[in-house]
Amino acid sequence: MNGSFIVSKFGGTSMGTLEAMERSALICLERESNVVVVSATSGTTDQLIRIAKHASLGENQNYEKEVFALKERHQAMMNEFQNNRDANQGLQNYFTELDLLIQNIFLLKELTPKAHDHILSLGERMSSLMFREILQQKAPQKKVIFLDARTVIKTDSHFGKAAPDINEIALQCATLGSENIYVTQGFIGSDSEGNTTILGRGGSDYSAALFAEGLKASVLEIWTDVAGIATTDPRLCAKARIIPELSYAEASEMAQYGAKILHPATIAPAVRQSIPVFVGSSFDQHKPGTWIRNQVQDRPAVRAITKRSHQSLLTITNPDMLNAYGFMGTVFDIFGEHRISVDCVTTSEIAIAVTVDHTTLENKDLMTHLNQIGSIQVETDFALISLIGNDLFSRESLAKAIFTSVESTSVRMMSLGASPYNFNFLIKENVAKDCIERLHQTFIEGQL
Ligand code: ADP
Ligand code: ASP
Ligand code: MG
Repeated sequence: MNGSFIVSKFGGTSMGTLEAMERSALICLERESNVVVVSATSGTTDQLIRIAKHASLGENQNYEKEVFALKERHQAMMNEFQNNRDANQGLQNYFTELDLLIQNIFLLKELTPKAHDHILSLGERMSSLMFREILQQKAPQKKVIFLDARTVIKTDSHFGKAAPDINEIALQCATLGSENIYVTQGFIGSDSEGNTTILGRGGSDYSAALFAEGLKASVLEIWTDVAGIATTDPRLCAKARIIPELSYAEASEMAQYGAKILHPATIAPAVRQSIPVFVGSSFDQHKPGTWIRNQVQDRPAVRAITKRSHQSLLTITNPDMLNAYGFMGTVFDIFGEHRISVDCVTTSEIAIAVTVDHTTLENKDLMTHLNQIGSIQVETDFALISLIGNDLFSRESLAKAIFTSVESTSVRMMSLGASPYNFNFLIKENVAKDCIERLHQTFIEGQL
């Protein structure tokens, strides 16, 4: 491996239009990025999911309409480039690949996880093809190489959310040279048999971090549609403000508990190689943004508030467990076996209540398995709100301030005490925005 690498990732909105792509290309050149990881153009992954679903249900009119719209959108962007012959041919090949996959799914009325990942990979492959073209046109003196991320991001075969093979990725990264600029895809990889896999929704940040780790990059840049990581989602609270500097632990905690700006797994690879991470807006590149590092100057007790939507509460009850042992162990073994992560837990002697993502309820095997050890009550439409900080317990009158802020909200469950870095509670989704505004006022604006 030669030289030092700067890995820059651009999200869906940064790829959304020709202007956005051009702006992103100029950022790459100004920052001297040499590995550029891109997402699908905004809305494309959602559209591919709908297309695959319609095809598997035999709804040909619906999928044809969506396929037409997807192709038209990409073709219109491609037509805006000059000298696009090779890239245009590449795009037509992707369209053919999509048609073939969808026709097969439609004929079989079956959508396997393997086929699903392959279809989803087309979003990133199309955007990166176009972005390489733009970057090359902006820097004719440089060698801009289209890199198929599936040759580098090697994973297991857990389709839908594959786990990366760090050692294999490092080996593949060693073949890249820093004198070139590589444009590659976020979100996608391949297993040992060459099947296409994906890292899970929002996984392009994670891909970029894996490239950065494998290359021992000097910096990882995440370019998105907001000017850095804010004290809470700016879409939920107008008073949210950008945090100039965050520790790895704080950023990781925020991502785990719902700050969509970073995929939850992004920070771990950066930590393993001590790579500083920058988050900034590709629409406003000169704003200071957020730096995520090991050590930071300012370590407030409460740093940020996050929201994780689409939460369901499962309560598993077994009266026979009164004065018996092992109930908790059995419940968590079952979640582990089905690879389901549980976020928030409360227990009594005969019942365990856990929060899970709502998609978990579709896992029929898990539900059947849980039903064998107790009765299950399901409640839906919750949001998990978290206060994230460095030492929440050092905040004077913490409990009082929390209860006052959420006074008029009906809180279904809360968890404080397991960690000094976060406090979680579960409320109905429709009151979440209001609640976040009040918490922000008390804990963030009140600190100024
Ligand atoms: P990209 O397509 O660039 O990956 P995402 O939509 O995945 O972008 O993430 C950016 C979005 O994350 C922002 O538009 C913002 O609404 C949301 N977000 C959630 N929490 C935060 C936060 N604490 N700070 C900044 N943005 C946040
Ligand atoms: N395109 C993928 C998604 O929408 C990955 C990403 O954007 O990070 O989930
Ligand atoms: Mg994202």
